[in-house]
Amino acid sequence: MDLVQWVEKLGRFIPPWLAQPLERGLRRVPFVRRQMEREYTRLLEELRQALKPYHDMPVFTRLPETGWDRMTLLHLIQAMVGREERRWQQGFVSGTVYHGGNELASLIHQVYALTSHTNPLHADLWPSVSKFEAEIVAMTAAMLGAEAAQTMDPDARVCGTVTSGGTESILLAMKVYRDWARATRGVTEPEIVLPVTAHPAFDKAAHYLGMRTVRYPVRDDYRADVDAAARAITKNTVVLVGSAPTFPHGVVDPIAELSTLAMEQGIGFHVDACLGGFVLPWAEKLGYPVPPYDFRLPGVTSISVDTHKYGYAAKGTSVVLYRSPDWRSYQYFTATDWPGGLYAAPTVAGSRPGALLAICWAVMISMGERGYLEATRRILETADFLREGICAIPELRVLGDPLWIIAFTSDEVNIYRVMGGMERRGWRLTGLQFPPAVHIAVTLRHTVPGVAERFLTDLEAAVRDARKLPASEGGMAPVYGMAASLPFRSMVDDLLRRYLDLLYEP
Ligand SMILES: *Cc1c(COP(=O)(O)O)cnc(C)c1O
Repeated sequence: MDLVQWVEKLGRFIPPWLAQPLERGLRRVPFVRRQMEREYTRLLEELRQALKPYHDMPVFTRLPETGWDRMTLLHLIQAMVGREERRWQQGFVSGTVYHGGNELASLIHQVYALTSHTNPLHADLWPSVSKFEAEIVAMTAAMLGAEAAQTMDPDARVCGTVTSGGTESILLAMKVYRDWARATRGVTEPEIVLPVTAHPAFDKAAHYLGMRTVRYPVRDDYRADVDAAARAITKNTVVLVGSAPTFPHGVVDPIAELSTLAMEQGIGFHVDACLGGFVLPWAEKLGYPVPPYDFRLPGVTSISVDTHKYGYAAKGTSVVLYRSPDWRSYQYFTATDWPGGLYAAPTVAGSRPGALLAICWAVMISMGERGYLEATRRILETADFLREGICAIPELRVLGDPLWIIAFTSDEVNIYRVMGGMERRGWRLTGLQFPPAVHIAVTLRHTVPGVAERFLTDLEAAVRDARKLPASEGGMAPVYGMAASLPFRSMVDDLLRRYLDLLYEP
């Protein structure tokens, strides 16, 4: 029996309060340290094979003495990305590449070529770029109930900024609530109250901003437990969080109830619609059962929504929206006394890639309402088909009641073995934990004829394999298998840090 299995068995008998001190003690024992070292090395060796495949390519650890010519360089890049194309293009991947159509790609490339030198930090040089940004924000706000909000409440004037991604949108919103609570209520130890399923970007924001996250459980349907949220609120709470939908299980939290709770408590309420902001408005129009989740609810004070996911823009843009400009002002940074001049920046970055704003704007204008409706229709139809197919496999069970991000697990076979079996067949599903499960986030790549059928055929085979074949090696499945079973989270933390170190080996 290897160390991991041993720790796993042991872990079942350890109450959580004992796990940490016990772990600290155990890790000081030389035998345990050696065994752990061996285990990490084995897992990382397997990962290395997937992450460092280019042994046949030139390696640069310092600048070449003279620069390479353009054609050789382009060939080299083509050789590498060419090998990587098949998996995402043919729809083997959950989420990740959200559109991938040739025509849209070609539009994106042309717009980049026209605007690669632009930077909205210098709005006087490129007023076109600030026009693009302002209109991206306005169009996104209009999708998420800005008009209805203003009709109900004349003070509501939904506004926002474009950021570099969901993480930055969330970070900035959390900064807004921290600074608002400090200024208006003198809160010095601000807390974010959120369900366990909310994205780790909130923990990252708390980590950077000197805040604290307070996580509460979800109900049996994987949606936030509003009573638990109410119990978690203290005088230090500055904001509640809900997801529309959650990343792990694709379900929409009870946003209306959380909105009411936030208003009663006089605190902020952030809706993380990073995944759903460009799907739910259209799903609603198509007649799917979508509960309220946007500014039409009076307690919603901010929303994050990723244009670089289901908005189909190039990677590197997201929108953060606020109910009124008073909130947004807490996001801004200004320097008035610098010898380098007067300085004002709306988001974390100083210089920003204007080309990404131009692309995002162009993609939105080129898709139009009809384009997004049609994309959403195809995604939801494929998701319905997949969900029924997964439910029809007797060993599998779908978690919650999702729309297009379908999480499933098994009470009969190890689900990470199923994930491994899918990896052997070229698929890349997302591993989940607590409880162990996997999900597929359906994108336009999966709506191409034949892809969903192939998924279900391969999934049935992977379930059969999981019953009889030994656990697979390599890929992410064994890492999830191990991480989910360890009662000692600092061992997982170690492993993740070594994974990041590995990425930086040339
Ligand atoms: C993707 C995602 C984020 C983080 O966005 P990034 O663009 O990866 O920084 C946050 N919340 C949810 C629900 C997401 O799906």
